[in-house]
Amino acid sequence: MKKQFYSLLAISLISMGSFAQMPERILDKSNMREGEHVEYCTTHKKLAELRKDPKMAAMIDGAQAEMQNHAKSKGDNNTTKATVYKIPVVFHIIHNNGTENISKEQVADAVAILNRDYRKLNTDANNVQTPFQGMPTDVEIEFELAKKAPNGACFAGITRTSTALTVAPPDQGWSNPGGLQQVNAVINGNDIYQGVWPHTKYLNIYVAADIGGAAGYTYNPMTNATASASNMYYNGIFILSTYTGSIGTSSVNSSRSLTHEVGHWLNLEHVWGPNNNPGNAASCSDDDGVQDTPMCIGVTSCSLSSNTCNDPVQQPAEIN
Ligand SMILES: [Zn+2]
Repeated sequence: MKKQFYSLLAISLISMGSFAQMPERILDKSNMREGEHVEYCTTHKKLAELRKDPKMAAMIDGAQAEMQNHAKSKGDNNTTKATVYKIPVVFHIIHNNGTENISKEQVADAVAILNRDYRKLNTDANNVQTPFQGMPTDVEIEFELAKKAPNGACFAGITRTSTALTVAPPDQGWSNPGGLQQVNAVINGNDIYQGVWPHTKYLNIYVAADIGGAAGYTYNPMTNATASASNMYYNGIFILSTYTGSIGTSSVNSSRSLTHEVGHWLNLEHVWGPNNNPGNAASCSDDDGVQDTPMCIGVTSCSLSSNTCNDPVQQPAEIN
C-alpha cells in the first residue's frame, strides 16, 4: 500500500492541468505551474489555516498519533493482505446549471480512474526510477458509488444542488470557510436527501465550478466521528468539475487530481512532505511519513530523472 502511494501522488500531481476558472483570485504562483490558472492542491494550506485554532491543532495531532500507533501495532510488512476495502462514494455536484453540472458518465469515469489507480491497474504504475522498480503495489482499496442515501432511499451515488455557490464564497475566517458554505448548500438543497451525509459512511466528494482557486483539496483524516456539516466539510474532498474524470468537461490530463486528493484523504502527504512548496530546499529535510520514498525537494513536472535532494539509492536511511 505504501509503495503504491509514491507513484499515486507523484504522478497524479503532475496532471493538475490548466483550465481557467471564473473568479479572479489572488493565487500563489509558487503553487502553480507556468500557464495554469489554478493552484494544483491546497490541502496543506488549508491544514495550516486550521491549525491556527489550538483545539483543531490538537485534534489533528491526536488523529495523527492515533494512526501512527495503529500502524506501529500492525507492524510494517510488505505482504499482500488480500483484503479489498470498498468505500462508498457520493459525488455532490454543486452547479448553477452550467457545464459544471457534469454527467453521470463523467462521474462513473472518475470512479473507474480511482479504481484503476488504487488497484494498480494503471499502465504507468511501474514508471518509477530504477531503485523503486517492482515496488508499486495494489493498494487494495476500491471505490463504488453509494447506493443508499442516509434515509435509506436508493439513489445512484450522485446528488445535485443548484446554487450560485458553485463558485466558492470567500472564507469567513477559519471557522466558516467557503467550502463549508458549499457543503451547507448541499445539505439544504440537494435533490436526494436534505441533511447530513455522515463522513463515517461516505466519502463525500464535492464537485463545483470553483473551490477557492485550487484544482482540488481535502484534509487529512480527523478523529471526530460526529455526523455534522462541519465534519462533512473537513472529511470530504473538493474537486473542480473540470478535473473530475477524463471525459466531458475534464480531460485525461486533469483526470488524476482526484487520485491525488484521495491520497491525502487517506493520510498521505506529498512526497516532499506536508507543504505545498515543491522545489523549496527546506523540503529536503521534510519527511512524508511513509517509508517507501526518500526525502525529496519535490517537483512539479513528471520526469523520471528528477532527483533534487540526493541520490535515492543513498537515501533510504531517511526511513524512520
Ligand atoms: Zn496535494
